[in-house]
Amino acid sequence: MRSFRQATVYFASGTGNSYLVGAWFRDAAEARGIPAVLTPVARADPRRDIAAAPDELVVLAFPTHGGLPPWSVIKFLLRMPRRKGAGFLCLPTRGSFFVGPLLVPGAAILASFLPPFILAFKGYRPLGAVSFDMPANITSVHPPLTSRHAGRVVARARAKFDRSMDRFFGKGRVWLTRNNAYEAIWSLAVLRFIPLFPLLYLVLGRFFMGKVMFANDRCTGCGICAAACPAGALVMVGRNVPRPYWRYNCEHCLRCLNYCPHQAIGASLPWAAFLWWLGSAAALAAAVFSHLTALVPGLEAWRGYWTVELVNSLVYYPVFIAAYALFHVLNRIKFLNVVLSRTSPSFFLGQYRAPGTALPQLTGRTDASRPHTSTTGDG
Ligand code: SF4
Ligand code: SF4
Repeated sequence: MRSFRQATVYFASGTGNSYLVGAWFRDAAEARGIPAVLTPVARADPRRDIAAAPDELVVLAFPTHGGLPPWSVIKFLLRMPRRKGAGFLCLPTRGSFFVGPLLVPGAAILASFLPPFILAFKGYRPLGAVSFDMPANITSVHPPLTSRHAGRVVARARAKFDRSMDRFFGKGRVWLTRNNAYEAIWSLAVLRFIPLFPLLYLVLGRFFMGKVMFANDRCTGCGICAAACPAGALVMVGRNVPRPYWRYNCEHCLRCLNYCPHQAIGASLPWAAFLWWLGSAAALAAAVFSHLTALVPGLEAWRGYWTVELVNSLVYYPVFIAAYALFHVLNRIKFLNVVLSRTSPSFFLGQYRAPGTALPQLTGRTDASRPHTSTTGDG
């Protein structure tokens, strides 16, 4: 049986799915007599946490964002100290749901392989990767799964987790599995046909999806969302009733949206449509400009791709940035806030929280409560 001196289990989690997987691992290690500590990435200090010994085990549970780990997790991996011979186990989660009796699986894609690849350069021994289907939770664009539905998905993931850990601790195969073959096929397909997709998703998550979120008139200015944000991306702005303002380091983890006690946070679909339109208008203007250069003697050399990109950069990006400031100001006007709020489905769709989890567990700000690992919580 595989044995370790201690297991350091890190997790990055917006709504609790990856937290649950990390907590399952912590419990599984302790049940086998291995001391384990569960820590959110946002509060981790790996130089202190991970001893320089070959019988150390480091585990990382995190959500998949467009086929990659979230940017904060990639940065965390790059900052990890060198630890020669320490074991590393990668546990990405991916969104899924049932259609009737059939589970529609997600795909972790490169998120299964990138962390072990990075840490191998720092001396760690990659021991395996297992991805888990957890309840789909992008509640800014789709309704949350009902608690019963989410409970079914989590129960299935838990059964897979138990099987995988029996194999892992029993020195069985954790790399050469059907699950990793599935992720490898996805990875090859993405790299072959849409290689820019993972990168675009990271950029979009940061510069677009967080920029269409806002708080409506139900917001009491309590500041819970800002205090709970793992990226420190929310600042409270305003005097009488301060409201959250989304900065560019928002990773679209959706913790704020799903944990606001007044369900006052949502994503404005009309504003998202406006931003797309703005992008199309700028692209059209850039293309027209590029073609017009052909008509002006001496400017023909300017016609082409880079002119389009240049005009786009000079026009679209500044306007895009200014548009968000405008969005924030408009949202301070009660009438417009109500209009944007009533036309944004996410305010009516409900919230998602991984079954049996609570905010203090995700923020790591309490050690008093052991995490629940129930599969039938209230979502
Ligand atoms: S959006 Fe919600 S959590 Fe954030 S300050 Fe307003 S009421 Fe509090
Ligand atoms: S602002 Fe909200 S969605 Fe963005 S990283 Fe913070 S908690 Fe997550």
